[in-house]
Amino acid sequence: MAKKIKVLAIGELAGNQLSPGTRELLGGGRDLADSLGARVGIVLLSESAGKTGAEAIAYGADEVYQAEAAFLKNYQPEVYLQVLEKIVKKVGPEILLLAQTATGRDLAPRLACRLKTALAPDCVALAIDPDSGLLRMTRPVYGGRALAVLVCKTRPQMATVRFRALKSREPDPSRPGEIKPVTPELDQSKIKSKFIEKVVEEVKGVPLENARVVACGGRGMGGAEAYALLEELAQFWGGAVGATRPACDSGWVSSARQIGLTGKIVSPNLYLAVALSGSSQHMAGCGNSKMIVAINKDPEANIFSFANYGVVGDYRRILPPLIERLKQVRKGPKD
Ligand SMILES: Cc1cc2nc3c(=O)[nH]c(=O)nc-3n(C[C@H](O)[C@H](O)[C@H](O)COP(=O)(O)OP(=O)(O)OC[C@H]3O[C@@H](n4cnc5c(N)ncnc54)[C@H](O)[C@@H]3O)c2cc1C
Repeated sequence: MAKKIKVLAIGELAGNQLSPGTRELLGGGRDLADSLGARVGIVLLSESAGKTGAEAIAYGADEVYQAEAAFLKNYQPEVYLQVLEKIVKKVGPEILLLAQTATGRDLAPRLACRLKTALAPDCVALAIDPDSGLLRMTRPVYGGRALAVLVCKTRPQMATVRFRALKSREPDPSRPGEIKPVTPELDQSKIKSKFIEKVVEEVKGVPLENARVVACGGRGMGGAEAYALLEELAQFWGGAVGATRPACDSGWVSSARQIGLTGKIVSPNLYLAVALSGSSQHMAGCGNSKMIVAINKDPEANIFSFANYGVVGDYRRILPPLIERLKQVRKGPKD
């Protein structure tokens, strides 16, 4: 008898490919399913799936539930929920995974409510408990100062997972797998909202969530112009610039660059925290960075309790010589 689908991922597409986070869900989901001796499924909703079903199999899916319809072209919570609820209930997974993206964050709690289960949002690690077989879901709490490990009594055990928390596998185009077309049914009378327009955020350089280096400036930067220094700094490592909420609210930086509880969540290798105090709401978005280097003129600033390295001083005196030095290093030794 074929093994059961115990792990199900809700995939997202980026153009005509799987999003990087979806590939990671498949890699991590594969590891969980292997520990359970089970199969991995993925749901893909789109107007036209193209080759994404085959791509999902290459990245680790055993079964792809593929629903295609014009009304699935753009993400609309009520529409997606109706379709997903039916598919998830039919598959009946033990574990349900979504990526911690704007869509995943919006969709997961609503779906959990419809499935009458609990949700562990923003997980940074997932593992199967060898004794109980339950999913252990690890997520940062208290603004990243501690990690909580949760298990869920209801089914499916449901989590949204942070980018880079799970590892995508090398794609194997020869992997066997099955694409199962699903005819999506929609009860229009239950749709109260209307899709009007999709505004695509123009991102220069690397998207914030994917950047390996993030230079983030806070209220202490004092104005929009000062962010040019951070742009210059980030460019050295092919990184991206972020900002705290007051900097975005003041209009110095686009709100798409906001990091924190109500902004984006990043986990770069290097996080440069410049002229920001390190509030818990901000740290909720960056506390999982591999290394934090802080520059702040207040030696008592909270950010120093998170930082691996700290420089006490005015950023206006620290950043220009640092940038000059980096330029010299890049040019190589003087003759
Ligand atoms: C529900 C809710 C959600 C929130 N969500 C977010 C969120 O997603 N993201 C977020 O960032 N905030 C969020 N906030 C706001 C949060 O509480 C803080 O107010 C905010 O993070 C503080 O931003 P800041 O560190 O830039 O400013 P401040 O706390 O004012 O800190 C500025 C720092 O700059 C330093 N400084 C000043 N001048 C210089 C200089 N020349 N050189 C070096 N250092 C200097 C100061 O010493 C100070 O430490 C939220 C708040 C609430 C209530």
